[in-house]
Amino acid sequence: MQILPHSESAINESDVLDVLVQPPCKKNPGHPRFIPVKQFKEEDIPIEARCNNIWQIIKDQGLRTVKLTVYYTTDRPANFDVGLPAASRRGRSGTGWVDLFDNSIKGRTGFKTGKTFMISTAAHVIFDNRECGETKVEFFFDDDYNCKEVIEARGHNIVLLDTSLDVCRFLCHTSDTVSGNKIRERLREIPRYYPPVPPIENIAWCISHPHGMAQRLTFGRITDIKEEEATWSWAVLKLLVYQCATQGSIAEKKIFYVFFRDTVNGINLYLADDLGEKSKKQHKEQLLGHLVDKGLIVKPTREEAIYIRGLYNELTANLSDMRDKAFYSKFKHSVELISNAKEKEEKHKLYKHIVLTEAMKVRVSPKFLERFNEIEKELWVKRHNLLFGGHYQNLDLSLTKSSTYSLDSCPGSSGARVTAYVMTNEGLRRHIGHHSRGLKENQGIVCGGGGSILVPTTPIPAELKNKYNITSGTAI
Ligand SMILES: [Zn+2]
Repeated sequence: MQILPHSESAINESDVLDVLVQPPCKKNPGHPRFIPVKQFKEEDIPIEARCNNIWQIIKDQGLRTVKLTVYYTTDRPANFDVGLPAASRRGRSGTGWVDLFDNSIKGRTGFKTGKTFMISTAAHVIFDNRECGETKVEFFFDDDYNCKEVIEARGHNIVLLDTSLDVCRFLCHTSDTVSGNKIRERLREIPRYYPPVPPIENIAWCISHPHGMAQRLTFGRITDIKEEEATWSWAVLKLLVYQCATQGSIAEKKIFYVFFRDTVNGINLYLADDLGEKSKKQHKEQLLGHLVDKGLIVKPTREEAIYIRGLYNELTANLSDMRDKAFYSKFKHSVELISNAKEKEEKHKLYKHIVLTEAMKVRVSPKFLERFNEIEKELWVKRHNLLFGGHYQNLDLSLTKSSTYSLDSCPGSSGARVTAYVMTNEGLRRHIGHHSRGLKENQGIVCGGGGSILVPTTPIPAELKNKYNITSGTAI
């Protein structure tokens, strides 16, 4: 009777390696649906999206994917906890992707000719400059058994950190220009544009370094995309437009000018700290000038500007009064017990509520909100182009607030790029985001969410419109 396996099936050398590179995993034991990128073939693509173009796009995404190992964890707020104590030096894995546009980093603090690259990841992977400086970046790690092609770099400084979207962009340096040139040479293989992909109902994919393994590809689908809602500041503007209309006949675009000049002046936070005051001022002028060039706002005369400003001040003073009254009536018995921070938070909530309620009561010209959103979008696109080079020129973007998708991911996948094509009422849309956190794991759906998500599109060809009965819309 034979109990032991045949000796022929005993563990061979590569099985031993498999055990080493495939760590035990509770979330996706054995990682059966994680395709090693090195071996990825066109047949691996789900049938509904299978084509050479998609294969090429995915392959190229692999070239841009980098492994991150962070050897320091800073003292973080609770919602950014990664399960390690503050000042821990235990290495954690994450994933990022490299920016292809050199012009976005030239001249920045931390830029070194020939050695610098910009990486995008999630803010919960790299939370501050200290963590960034303790990060190892590995390019082209697509083979667990052969690291010859891998090129290392080291994190240097953060360029943009947005905790609300869970996004971090940072610069890293290779040890010398020879390695830097090798990276650039390989990245040059990636085309800037791809031929249009066929209409696909819904496909999402992600290339990441689960558990720090070599690149793995997983496929899934988008389950929900939330369009960016207008911030409540549109309600303030609506009230201002209404007030101006009741008192005179000033063109809406001139009121918009005064309002958005303030908005532009207030976006210090978004402009990276390393730009310097002069350059920040230029950025702001360019932003406002862009809106004028697009015909979305019109510069008022000096007298008109003073008049609009006066009404604006009056309006905000009234709104603040209403807020203060509401605050004292709500907390009249306990006002001394409230901390300054709590008072600020409560007042902010009340202000928002009052503004929204008041704005609901008034009527302005139709499609006001659409015009407001258009300006917000233009500001976003222009700001992004100024900060990071001309990625988004001539593209119609839809900003989205968050997305969810069902896609296998593991620890170490955080920060990876999630690309998707999804057919919407407006046609085929491309979605790009950062893998953030798993959201509904206990329901058996591995959902990622958040990230800086855009949906760039170009006009849909007429023949596709007819074939798929899409009346209006866009496609890649
Ligand atoms: Zn796993």
